[in-house]
Amino acid sequence: MCRHLGWLGREIAVSSLVLDPPHGLRTQSYAPRRQKHGLLNADGWGVGFFDGTTPRRWRSAMPLWGDVSFESVAPALRSHCIVAAVRSATVGMPIEVSATAPFTDGRWLLSHNGIIDRRVLPATSNAESVCDSAVLAALVFARGVDSLGEVVAELGAADPRARLNILAGNGSQLLATTWGEALWLLRRDDGVVLASEPYDDDPGWEDVPDRHLVQVTPDGITMTALKGPR
Ligand code: GLN
Repeated sequence: MCRHLGWLGREIAVSSLVLDPPHGLRTQSYAPRRQKHGLLNADGWGVGFFDGTTPRRWRSAMPLWGDVSFESVAPALRSHCIVAAVRSATVGMPIEVSATAPFTDGRWLLSHNGIIDRRVLPATSNAESVCDSAVLAALVFARGVDSLGEVVAELGAADPRARLNILAGNGSQLLATTWGEALWLLRRDDGVVLASEPYDDDPGWEDVPDRHLVQVTPDGITMTALKGPR
């Protein structure tokens, strides 16, 4: 995924984060402002949200900008915890719904912004797709999302060219890593946003430093430096 976004806070409409902001994910699907790799995010989109404790997903392999059904329904989709993404497929990866984030193990919703050589990932039959991000998601779920920081540092050492910005939510927390791609944080009165790039020009957006793990819970935000080779 080339641009992702997470929300933890009060219950809000999915459209208010994804469609309405001037530079939200819909705009980022055709005109991202700060993307280093790729020009467009037209290879699909996915919105995951918690309905109580149940993760639910709506994904597509088509561009988000043209999806009038989603535009109609998104204002009625409300949640306190949301993980959404628009995709720019890595060369050689399939363009299909099952390759589109967020991925889930039934407890977590997870998105990957970046690239990894699949040869450093253990073979698994649990991945939804052969896409690198889907295989990576299966590994993170198998190892435990709570050890996300360790897994990312290990994989970063195994594949020095990997970019491993991962964003995951389980309804009560968000976890995110920065490893080669940008991530921004916005503290709002009603919750916290993590996003690959700011969806508006609010001066409150904070740039998360590279090679960090961010944890957002109702009690606050922590940032920890990840170990690994430079
Ligand atoms: N490698 C992933 C894919 O092909 C993610 C790509 C990205 O972040 N642009 O979907």
